[in-house]
Order: sequence, then C-alpha cells, then structure tokens
Amino acid sequence: MTDELSHLIGLMDMAKVSAKVRRRNKERVNQGLCLCCDKAPWRRGLCIAHYAAFLRKRNSLSKLSRGKFLLECERKGLVLAPRESEQIRSKDPFKEIA
Ligand SMILES: [Zn+2]
Repeated sequence: MTDELSHLIGLMDMAKVSAKVRRRNKERVNQGLCLCCDKAPWRRGLCIAHYAAFLRKRNSLSKLSRGKFLLECERKGLVLAPRESEQIRSKDPFKEIA
C-alpha cells in the first residue's frame, strides 16, 4: 500500500468515526456534561480543568504536531471543533429570553 493510499484511507476512517462521535458529544454537551467527565462544559465541550489540560498539552507541542494532535482529539471525541461548539452554544434557549 502506498503512503498516499493509506493516508486517504485514514482520512475516510476519520470521517466515519466522527459522525458517531459528534452525535455522542452533542448529547453530552446538551446535557451539560464535559466530554471527559461529568462536570459542566466551559469551552469546546470541556470543563475548565479538562480545557486547561487540553491547552497545556497543545501548547507544549510544535506547530507541526499541533494540527495532528487537534485532529486526533476531535476524532476521539475529546474536544469539540470550534465551529461545532459554536453550533451547540447557539441553541441555548436562554439566549432568546429578555
Ligand atoms: Zn472535564
């Protein structure tokens, strides 16, 4: 198998996993649960403690490995993509009152 081909298959796998993961993440955040524990989510589907841990790890990486790290986290459902967390937040029913 060529590198290019296995890269493509990797991308396809990624897309497959994320539909399932995305559904599960949306459910958790809508229920007011962090993706990694049962505390309230703060940013990107994570509670303050897990978001801090996520940032700490991300900031320790080189620019090159950061993209890979982010993709891997999103694929595993450990963090929401920025756009996704925006979509979930925009469904806040309290926003429309007063
Ligand atoms: Zn947490």
